[in-house]
This record gives sequence, C-alpha cells and structure tokens, in this order.
Amino acid sequence: MAGFELFGNEERKHVNDVMESGILMRYGFDGMRNNHWKAKEFEAAFAKRMGADYCQLVSSGTAALTVALASAGIGAGDEVIMPTFTFVASFESIMALGAVPVLVDIDDTLTLDPQAVEAAITPKTKCVMPVHMCGSMARLTELQAICKKHRLILLEDACQALGGTFNGKPLGSIGDLGCFSFDFVKTITCGEGGGIITNNQQYAIHADQYQDHGHDHIGKDRGAETHPHLGYNFRISELHAAIGLGQLEKLDDFLALQKKNYTILREALSQVEGVTFRTVPEGGEENYSFLNFFLPTQELTERAHKALGEAGVDGCFYWFKNNWHYINGWEHLRNFKTFGNLSSEIKNQMQNLNTTNFSKSDYWMGRTISCLVKIGWTEAEVQSRAKKMATVCEHMLVAKKA
Ligand SMILES: *Cc1c(COP(=O)(O)O)cnc(C)c1O
Repeated sequence: MAGFELFGNEERKHVNDVMESGILMRYGFDGMRNNHWKAKEFEAAFAKRMGADYCQLVSSGTAALTVALASAGIGAGDEVIMPTFTFVASFESIMALGAVPVLVDIDDTLTLDPQAVEAAITPKTKCVMPVHMCGSMARLTELQAICKKHRLILLEDACQALGGTFNGKPLGSIGDLGCFSFDFVKTITCGEGGGIITNNQQYAIHADQYQDHGHDHIGKDRGAETHPHLGYNFRISELHAAIGLGQLEKLDDFLALQKKNYTILREALSQVEGVTFRTVPEGGEENYSFLNFFLPTQELTERAHKALGEAGVDGCFYWFKNNWHYINGWEHLRNFKTFGNLSSEIKNQMQNLNTTNFSKSDYWMGRTISCLVKIGWTEAEVQSRAKKMATVCEHMLVAKKA
C-alpha cells in the first residue's frame, strides 16, 4: 500500500522546483518562488481527483483529523463516536480538542457497527467517525442515515482507504468531511502529510484558518492578515507537498498494481475451505491495499499468523495482539496515562474502557489476518506468496479437522 516503493523522476522534478527557489513555505515570498505553489497545486488536484469542492493540506493525517474536527466546531465535552479497531490518531485528535472519544464495536466489515453507533448516541454526541481500515469501508448508507436522523457530523477517516469507492464515489467524499494521511507508508506519501476534503465552504474556511494560527489569508501581506479565530500550526511545507504532487500523478497506477496483486492473493486463498473474507458493503470497492481474511477460530488464526511468518510471508498482521490498532494494545488510553492533567470533560464523561464489553469486536478481530499488498512485487513474487499463504492456511485447517 505504499507509494514510497515507486519513487522516481516525478517526485524529483517537483522537489527540484522547490529547491531551485529555496522557498520551503507554502505562503508568501511571491516574488522569489518562481511561481511554484506546490501545496496549493496539490490541493486543487486532490480535490478534483476526489470529487470534492475543497481540500486542505496539513502536516499529518492526525493533524487532518484534528483540524477537521475543529473546523466542524467540535470542542470540549462533545462526544465523537469511533471504532475499537483503528489507529491511535482517532482518539488522539478527539482528545486534543478536549472532546470525548466514545469507543464502540466493529462488525464483519472491520469498521463501525451501525447498531453499536446508534446505541452510543447521547445528547452530547456531535460526530460519528468511521475509520475505513485496511483498504475497505464502513457501512456508509446506514451511518449516513443515523447521522441525518440525529443531526450528527459524519467524518470519514479514509487514511488507509485512499482510492476506494462507495457507489462510485471516492471514500472520504461521502461524509461531511474526509481525512487522509500521506505519511511514509500510505498509498501516496508526502514523507509526512495529511489532507481534509469537504464540500462545506464554512468547514473549508475554518480548516484553512485553523491549520495556520487562525490567519484569514486575505490580502498579500501575511503580517497584516487578521486572525478571526484561535488556531494552531498544522501547516505542510512546500517540500512535502512537492513529493505528494509527484505521487498523486501516479495514484491510479498504484491502485491498479494493488488490485492486480490483491486479486492473485485472494484467488489463491479462496480455494482454501474455511477461509472467509472481510465483508465489503454493497456498492463498495476496496482500494486493495490489504487482503483481510478470517479463519474459523481465534486459536487457529493466531497459529496461522505465526506459521505465515515462519514460512517467510512478511507483512501479515494479527491486529488483535498488536500495539497500535486495537483497543487491547491501548493500555495508555484505558488508564489515562498522560504527562499532565486531562480536561475534566474527558475525565468525567469517558466510558471505563477497562470494563466495557467489546466481545463483538474481539470476535472479529481475534479471527482476522491482514496482509499488506505491495506495489513493488514482481508477478513471480506475488504468485509464490499466494501459494505459500494458501498452503499455510490449508495446513492449519486440515490439521484442525484431523
Ligand atoms: C496513518 C493513519 C492516521 C494518521 O496519519 P499520520 O499521517 O501518520 O498522522 C490516522 N488514521 C488512520 C486510520 C491511519 O492509518
């Protein structure tokens, strides 16, 4: 799933443009920058590619989530519903604003279970944040209906699903706001970077201001700009934006390679009785960055994951026992390990994560293996990997029957 596998002249050209003028900042220095505006150019191209009216580039995917939430007016004490299976950035961004993360179960899509979402809504709920993990998506039709009914903001975290679609529309463009990460291991990379898309002009203006200390960006003199609201610094540099521009030109090639390699792996595993695949909601198409599959029991899945590693199949993850992506690994969150004091809203309102029942999430995560789909593999490498994966899983499942 990583664009860094195919760096080339495209990125080099844009970086050289920036280096020749030496203007590494995205704002100002108009006369010295040889008319290169890499961040602006990326925003226009990305908005177009995603079918959105506006794009705001920022310094990371985590920053994108924070800025998106802030732009939509989410603050202290507001509750944001998020899944148990995600990246730590979900609760980090919510808590950075003093808002309260409300964790709920996932289902066989490996993303938010709409029933669990509806059950978690309180008068303080402001936003539902589905996370399209590992290349595929949440049940967006149901989540949209819930958000409409309860007047909630739908914020898609599409950091791991760039290029996937739902009913023909790019993931990230369906909710009120969509967030992307361009960190080093994502589908396209800026080195570090993130993006927000929206069709809501107000949110777009807020995002533009919030990510740059509240600057209104009106006029030609940065020093004379006013700041109508408080903000922060989540700016991206021109150098990072330049890399991203080169990568963006190749996005569709990356996606085609992912699909090709994914299909070979999936066909091989489909032959193994007992292996089933993660549910993709009707109307959805994955971005094919991971192949996600289930084995019948947690014990078999754990053993199969270990055996895959021993057989030399790298890049397969058992998230259930992983430090970063599942609630089991978040001891620091469960026990509020912070350097300083947490805001009282978070302390008072947050559910006790040590005692909440997430057995439904455990059921799916305990049986899930996710294998990275690389774009740099040769066809022979993919074929050999497919064969090994099928053999290992078959062996596991036959051993179980005997
Ligand atoms: C990578 C990622 C992020 C955060 O992105 P960074 O650019 O690394 O800050 C957020 N959410 C998900 C699902 C991610 O995979």
